[in-house]
Order: sequence, then structure tokens, then C-alpha cells
Amino acid sequence: MKDSELETMRKSFNTVKSRSNSIKESPSTQRLISRVREIKEYSIENNEELFNQLCESFKRNDIDFKFAKTSEDALKIIDDLLDEYGCTTVAKAKSNTLGEINLKKHLAGENIDVVETDLGDRILQLKKTDNKPVHPTGPASHLNISNITDIVNESLDVNVSPVPREIMETVRHDVLKRLESANVGISGANAMASEEGSLVMVHNEGNISIVSLKDLHIIVAGIDKIVPTLEDAISVVKLETIFATGSYVTSYMNVVSGPSKTADIEKKLLKNMYGAEKVFVILLDNGRSNATPECLYCIGCGNCVVHCPVYNAVGNEFGFNNYLGGRGVAMSKFIEDDETCFNSGLYMCTLCGLCTLNCPVAIPTNEIIENMRKLSTDVGFYPKAHGVIKDNVSKNDSPY
Ligand code: SF4
Repeated sequence: MKDSELETMRKSFNTVKSRSNSIKESPSTQRLISRVREIKEYSIENNEELFNQLCESFKRNDIDFKFAKTSEDALKIIDDLLDEYGCTTVAKAKSNTLGEINLKKHLAGENIDVVETDLGDRILQLKKTDNKPVHPTGPASHLNISNITDIVNESLDVNVSPVPREIMETVRHDVLKRLESANVGISGANAMASEEGSLVMVHNEGNISIVSLKDLHIIVAGIDKIVPTLEDAISVVKLETIFATGSYVTSYMNVVSGPSKTADIEKKLLKNMYGAEKVFVILLDNGRSNATPECLYCIGCGNCVVHCPVYNAVGNEFGFNNYLGGRGVAMSKFIEDDETCFNSGLYMCTLCGLCTLNCPVAIPTNEIIENMRKLSTDVGFYPKAHGVIKDNVSKNDSPY
């Protein structure tokens, strides 16, 4: 990342920090923190049982679903569904899980036009190069108004002024026009309630509502997102919102519990009134069933990267894929093989523990990273500087 981008990112992070300070300390948030930690501990410990219950609830609710062991399995399921719908344009909502499976890159290879509907994501998509997000919910927090104006003008061949409203309206107009030909929407889910078979998605822009109004709504969610009940799911997304944005709630909270339907004419069931005629959920494992349980407590608020001294200094080069910072490195251990995860910033972490202190579910990221370092040396992986020492040792029996 450029120095100017790092500076803008730090400013944005400081805004989130100051906005959220008092709300995080309030007694109700403190109670919510304890509750969500309990929910996540219980849910991960009983994941198999909740998974089975969720599948039964989906069947009852007429939600189609498939389990995907790997990213490749998930992409294959998506390919088949897009074929079935003759889809050429997809409306996409923000999702870390869709980033994890590299959906956009894959569909670009299939000549499918993927249109990001979240403004920050769309700006990064228009940027074309160096367009990795810097925060799970504020992907373009490192770009200032002048950068964004240039990106929009160049990519859309327009001449907007550096005025936020003008930029927003220009991008919205362009996105809506492109989405006229989209018959499939793809999103993630922030939480899934196994008892009710409901999926909860939070957003401020209203874009997930657009995505879920397409004929087919595909939802890709990690199996770590399953919690027992809808009340639990709401607690999780509320805590995520507080720590990600400093607000108690987002403008929208969509709960999807089945396809769009009506029985208003002689009680005959008809699908596809306004929303999707088919809701298809892909339940993604991708290493989660072998993960260190604490890694799976993550609710994706991004507060760890906001407070991480290394991340604030170097930006999104510290992390793994679209999972940012130390948490990203910890996630890489179960998503990728050793060679990749041991190269993903494992030795950039200072082990200061600020991520854990600022994590609402107290994930011991620094301990997980320390353990990964031990494992990495066990299999002979040395970071660059250590590698030099190792070579010297083998050549001269002394590193000095
Ligand atoms: S590790 Fe904790 S602070 Fe970081 S994104 Fe996950 S829940 Fe939020």
C-alpha cells in the first residue's frame, strides 16, 4: 500500500475507534459480549448437531442447500446453478466468504459479469489493480475522495466532481443499470439459525435486499456461522455491528427463511412473488472442521486490525487472502496448506496481544500465531532473516 493510502486508512480507523468507544463500554454491550462468547463456544462445540438441525430446518423451509468441503466444491455448485439459470450477470453483496473462495476471479474466467453492489466494494472493483480490501466492513477505507473521484471518472468515463454525494449517485446509477440483466444474486450470511433455518444478513446500503430479489439467491456461508436460534443470530450480528461501525444497529437486517411465496389466491402456493423463487445455501467447510476452535469464534467485526500496530504500519499486506491482519494469518492455517500459511505474514506479528484485548470474543490470536511459528520451524520453514542464519549455521556451524 502507498504511504498516502496508509495515512487515509489510519484516519478512517481513528474515526471508527472514537465513534465506538462509549458504546463498547456500555453495560448492555458488556452483557452482549459475554452472551455472544457463550453462544460461539456452544455453537462451535456442537457444530455437527447444529449443522444437522439446520439442514432439517432448510428442508422444512423449502431452502435448497449443499455442503461444500472445499472452495472448488463451492465454485462447482455455483457454476452449475448459474448454468441452470442461464446467468451472465450476477449481483454480488459484500462477503468475506465469497472472497475466501475467490468467486470473482473464478467467474471472470467463466465470462460472467459480477457486479459488486456495496459502494466500497464497487469502488475497489472499478480500481482494477491493488484492489484488496483493508477492512471487512470498510473495504475502501484507505482511499481518499480524490483517489475515488479519479477511479470513478476513469473507469466509468464520466466527469464527476470530488463530492461524495455526486460519486455515490453516479456509482448507484451505473450499478442499477448493469443489474437489469442480472437474474442471480450472491451473498454471504452473518449468522445462520439452526432451529428456525434462517439466515441473517446486515447492511446499511439496502444492497442485500436487491441481491435477494433476483430469481435465484445463492448464499455461501461457513459452517462456523451456525448458531442455535434466531435470537442468538441477532445477538451475534448486533455485536459485530457495534465493533465494526460503532453503531448499535445497521439500517437493514435481512432475515431470509425461504423463497418468496404467496398463497393469497385460493390458498394455492405460488413462488416468486417479488423475491427469489429459489434460495440456495452453500455450507462451506474449507478447513473449518479441522480448525483451532477459537479461530471459529470470529464474528468478522475487524476491530483487531483497527488496533493492530503492524496492520496500521503496513496495511493489508499483513494477513492472508481477504482475511486481514493476525486473524487472517491464524485463519490461513486451516484454509491453506502449511507452505502458504507459513508464508502469510506469520513472522510479521509482534505478538503484542492488542488484537486479543480488542476482540469482542477474545480470540487469542497471538497465542495461535505463536503455536503456528513453532509448527513452522518443526517442518523446516524459516522466514527470510532466519533462513540466512540457518544457512550460515549449516555452512559454518555458527551464525556469527
Ligand atoms: S478476530 Fe475478533 S476482533 Fe478480529 S474480526 Fe474476528 S471477532 Fe472481530
